[in-house]
Formats: sequence, structure tokens, C-alpha cells
Amino acid sequence: MKSIDFEYQRPETLEATLALLADDTRDVQLLAGGQSLIPMMNLRMAAPEVLVDLGALGLSGVALRDGWLEIGAMTRYSALMRDDLVARHAPLMRLALPHVAHAAIRNRGTLGGSVALADPAAEVPAVLLALNAEIEVAGRNGRRNIAADDFFVGLYETDLDDGEIVTAIRIPVQPCRTGFAEVARRHGDYAMAGVALTVGEAGARVAFFGVADRALRAPGLEEALATRGMDQAALEHLRTLPFEGDLNASAEMKRHLAGVVLKRAFNGLA
Ligand code: FAD
Repeated sequence: MKSIDFEYQRPETLEATLALLADDTRDVQLLAGGQSLIPMMNLRMAAPEVLVDLGALGLSGVALRDGWLEIGAMTRYSALMRDDLVARHAPLMRLALPHVAHAAIRNRGTLGGSVALADPAAEVPAVLLALNAEIEVAGRNGRRNIAADDFFVGLYETDLDDGEIVTAIRIPVQPCRTGFAEVARRHGDYAMAGVALTVGEAGARVAFFGVADRALRAPGLEEALATRGMDQAALEHLRTLPFEGDLNASAEMKRHLAGVVLKRAFNGLA
């Protein structure tokens, strides 16, 4: 099945893109890598009347600025996996990205697309929570930075307002040890359960994915890991988290798998 007809636009400036979003009264959707949106359109789960391609806005690339690693929203997963700045300053990203889908999808899919989609089973939102990242967005009223903690608010739901675009992801550069693990039915499938983890001077940050309606932080567990490390008491904190079942597994199974990936990620901290 193919999508219904749509109009295609490829503006060359951010201002023109924001104007299109604000002024066009039709159903307008942004197109990044198209790796989620186009399949949804082909399955008729989405039927935008206008697609606005973000590809000509110059929103890709990685830079170090004032203690932050800044990654343009249109930077593709495959470029991030080869990037030296990412390897040096956000090694957690390098651990996680090979688990995102398959090479063909990583060659087109973008960081900003994953952030905006907010799939609860996606790796990127959890990685950004563990790294205490910020999401930079632009709208007709200017730019704002939103902490990842406040950005992912529900199932495919974010703090983005109508007419706003994710322009960059900002990761604070701070030394920390990082760990990552996930369980999927086949490599490249969405995870049944996964975790991204950082441990540094500021404490521990743990974010589970594939286990609830959004990536989940675990404050009690973080405190326990930072002070005492991994023990049975730390694992007991998993009982306090709102795990949800899905087509893959029950909530109880998700809780069990969360413990499995947590131990793997913690033992693999580097
Ligand atoms: P698009 O598909 O172009 O857009 C997705 C949504 O975000 C659209 O609603 C679009 O309007 C909006 N959007 C895009 N960019 C912006 C922006 N800058 N500002 C505001 N809104 C924006 N992902 C995983 O994380 N893990 C997996 O294991 C995984 N497996 C996959 C397997 C298959 C077979 C497929 C087809 C996809 C899989 N994906 C997986 C999804 C893939 O990672 C997508 O690329 C990603 O979720 C969306 O990125 P995109 O650039 O393709 O966005």
C-alpha cells in the first residue's frame, strides 16, 4: 500500500519553515529521515496533506560549544556512529546507536526525528535522559531549551508546541562512566526492555526504555547505585516503577527484564 497524495515542500530557511507551519491551515507534517513517518503514511496511520522536508535547513552536524556537545536535529544515526566528538564526549551514544534498527534505516534516520517521535521503545530518548541532555526547539516566538526530563511527557507525546521544530540536541560535557544494555527478539528490533546509565560526580542517572509509555527515570535506584552500587536493595527499587505490558511481554516480565539489563549495563560500565 502507498500513501495518499500529498504536497511536498523543501524550504531553505528555518524562518520559511516556521512560517509554513504557522500559516498553512492544512495538515502539515515535518519530514526528517522519513523512517517512521513514511511507513506510517504507507500504512495510512498518518495522512498529512503537506510534507515539509527539513533537509535543506543545514541542521546537521556535531560541534563542541561552551561545554556542550551540540548535535543538529537532522544529523543521521550513521554519521553519529562515525563522529569523533561523539565518541569522545558522549560514548553512551556510541554504545546505543548500533541497536537502533538496521544499517539502511540508520543511514536515513535522524536524531531529531527520534526525539520528536518519542517512541517509548526507542533508544535515543533514554540515552538523552541518562546524559541529562537538552532539546533545543525553535518556533515563531523564538528558541527555547527543554531538559530531556521535561521533554518526553507520554506515549509519542512531547513538550513540543504546535508549530515548533526540534533544531538541536545539547549534551553537557562531563566525565562519567556509561553503560547500556537491551533485550530484543532480534538484533535491530525495538527493545522489549533496555536501559541507559551514567555514573559520575553528580550521581547516577538511569533511564529504562521499552517498559512503559515513555522512557523512565528511576530516582530511588539512581541514589542507591550512586551510594552503594548494585545490590539486592538497589534492585528492590524496580518494584516502585510503573512498568506497563505490551504485545511483547507483561508488566511483570518487563520488570524482570529491566533487572536483567540493569545488571548487564552496570557490570559493563566503562
Ligand atoms: P521521520 O520519520 O521523518 O519523522 C518522525 C516524526 O517526527 C514525524 O512526525 C515528523 O513530523 C517528526 N519530526 C521529525 N523531525 C522533526 C524535527 N526536527 N522537529 C519536529 N518534529 C520532527 N527506532 C529506534 O529508536 N529503535 C529501533 O530499534 C528502531 N527500529 C526500526 C525498525 C524499522 C523497520 C523502522 C522502519 C524504523 C525503526 N526505528 C527504530 C525508527 C527509526 O529510528 C526512525 O528513523 C526514527 O524514529 C525517526 O527518525 P526519522 O528521522 O526517520 O523521522
